[in-house]
Amino acid sequence: FRHGQPSEVVVNTPNGAVTFGENHPVVVVAGPCSVENEDMIVKTAKAVQASGAKFLRGGAYKPRTSPYSFQGHGESALGLLAAAREASGLGIITEVMDTADVEKVAEVADVLQVGARNMQNFPLLKKVGSQDKPVLLKRGMSGTIEEWLMAAEYILAAGNPNVILCERGIRTFDRRYTRNTLDLSVVPVLRSLTHLPIMIDPSHGTGKSEYVPAMAKGALAVGTDSLMIEVHPNPSKAWSDGAQSLNPAEFDELMGDLSLIGQPL
Ligand code: PEP
Ligand code: MN
Repeated sequence: FRHGQPSEVVVNTPNGAVTFGENHPVVVVAGPCSVENEDMIVKTAKAVQASGAKFLRGGAYKPRTSPYSFQGHGESALGLLAAAREASGLGIITEVMDTADVEKVAEVADVLQVGARNMQNFPLLKKVGSQDKPVLLKRGMSGTIEEWLMAAEYILAAGNPNVILCERGIRTFDRRYTRNTLDLSVVPVLRSLTHLPIMIDPSHGTGKSEYVPAMAKGALAVGTDSLMIEVHPNPSKAWSDGAQSLNPAEFDELMGDLSLIGQPL
């Protein structure tokens, strides 16, 4: 069981330092699943910033189930994320899938995302552990809490103390109405086990935009340190994960509702 103080992950964004941690305001990360083009990523960045998000998310490298689905624009999308950072002042969180891309992604990203499918990609964990950028470690869809914490330990053991744990839903027996089962119980459980900051992703957790606001509010109620919400300017036209993406107006409404729960944002 855990000893000592909660750890803080401080990230310097163009708009100022943002701290992830138990005794800090809830940090909201928002943006599209994939970076599609400059106009949409810059537009989304400005919109979510105006609503109170502190980080822009968006995939350049996408871990898609089918090899025939859009795989992300790769390196060119990193340049578009840099443009969105410049235009909005938001920090950037983006996924890295391959050890060979880590340095390149770290040049643009303020936080490196390791996706659910790579939670136990040990060479990748060691590599991001050798970087000086914080790491957002998503829980594998079939990862136990212990496996997840041990995966985080790989990053810590490699010398990087700045790890944020993100719950994004796990596989259970019923996937008919939701994409995953969002395990909000991890918040109190992780509090008892680890000092690391916690993030909840109700977008991948439910797979349906209509359920995202309720689960985001629930995540705040159980004490999450941060939230990741997929937002797309036109979800029905999104190249990936449109069904679970809020549009900017829906995101703005959610941010208003979250502020009413009383957790500082
Ligand atoms: C994502 O954040 O777009 C993503 C692919 O998430 P996960 O790894 O949780 O499926
Ligand atoms: Mn996605």
